[in-house]
Amino acid sequence: MTSRPATAQASLADLQGLAERSVMDTYARAPVAFVRGEGCQLWDDEGVAYLDFLAGVAVCSVGHCHPAVVEAIQRQAKLLMHASNLCYTAPAIELAGRLAAGSLDGKVFLCNSGAEAVEAAIKLARRARPAGDIVVFHGAFHGRTYGALSATPQEAKQAPFAPLLEGIVVCDPDRPEAIAEAVGPGTAAVLIEPVQCETGIHPIEHETLLAARAACDEHGAALIFDEVQTGVGRSGALWAFQRLGVIPDALTSAKGLGGGMPIGALVAGPRLADVLRPGDHGSTFGGNPVACAAALAVLDIVDDEHFLACVRERGERLAEGLRALPGVGEQRGLGLMQAIDLHAGGAPELATRALAEQRLVVNATGPATIRLEPPLTVSNDQIDDALARLRALLG
Ligand SMILES: *Cc1c(COP(=O)(O)O)cnc(C)c1O
Repeated sequence: MTSRPATAQASLADLQGLAERSVMDTYARAPVAFVRGEGCQLWDDEGVAYLDFLAGVAVCSVGHCHPAVVEAIQRQAKLLMHASNLCYTAPAIELAGRLAAGSLDGKVFLCNSGAEAVEAAIKLARRARPAGDIVVFHGAFHGRTYGALSATPQEAKQAPFAPLLEGIVVCDPDRPEAIAEAVGPGTAAVLIEPVQCETGIHPIEHETLLAARAACDEHGAALIFDEVQTGVGRSGALWAFQRLGVIPDALTSAKGLGGGMPIGALVAGPRLADVLRPGDHGSTFGGNPVACAAALAVLDIVDDEHFLACVRERGERLAEGLRALPGVGEQRGLGLMQAIDLHAGGAPELATRALAEQRLVVNATGPATIRLEPPLTVSNDQIDDALARLRALLG
């Protein structure tokens, strides 16, 4: 590599200074500036290599700059970058067909992020049952926009922004009977993250998922799975619902779908596929040809039984290795979304040290919890390498 893009010339210190003056203070950023990525590796502004076990928060599903995704983006960018939803463009229509065929066999609304996919899901559910309640679980994360935030029952995230959307009913995921009590004829939807990822990879009990399905069937409510993080192979199936054996009426996708490009999707099964009518919803950038071309390239790789079997095997290897680390109290996960709780706490400090001392990118989701979500293309050697780096810190 000879020439680098101009932004890569800026040092970490330059960027920190500029960010302090110009960027709203909404993120606690680690003191690192990444300039290049390939597979499961990242390089910082000084050329130091890191092992990435976060994948841009489950976004770089097939690794950084996968050649097939790069090629699809370049090819589409030269042809047509945007034309609007006032006409037909092939990548969006083909992606919708592909997403529907590989999941719920209905219809798709394309957008640009996870929160937008959740917004579309809430609107769809309310359009099908006007003024209906949306039932959500404690510990869930559905996004930061007003509808999605209203469906995210976390005091610290919600309180400063009241009043929120009306008609959100919160129930306890650890009590399967709670869902039957919460759902009734006035329920529009039950919205579930089948594995609660942002709060530390907490899989929802099968019994609770079954109870939600039964309650929705009884009252004609929509069961919606938020698969923004669990989807696109992360669980070891293309969609987590396929591994969990409970079929929702609709699902949301984003994060890993574009392999690094911003894209989101709401997929509705046949019962809800024709609820939204012209003028009900829209997005200027939704279905963007470049983002959709990237997503099609991602699905070409991930929607493959051999690839998904590898994700399940690698997930098991990572889970076993994590359980064997010193100081680990609990390990939770499904496929390549894994978390550990540390006996002694100190997870944020551990994540900081992992980056600075071991050049390993992981994420603390709470005071005692470390989350690991490597690219789905991670190798056995890279898993063993990451475990060794963690052992060096915990040992
Ligand atoms: C990340 C996430 C969202 C929000 O996605 P954005 O693209 O950040 O808007 C919603 N739901 C789940 C389950 C997520 O993990």
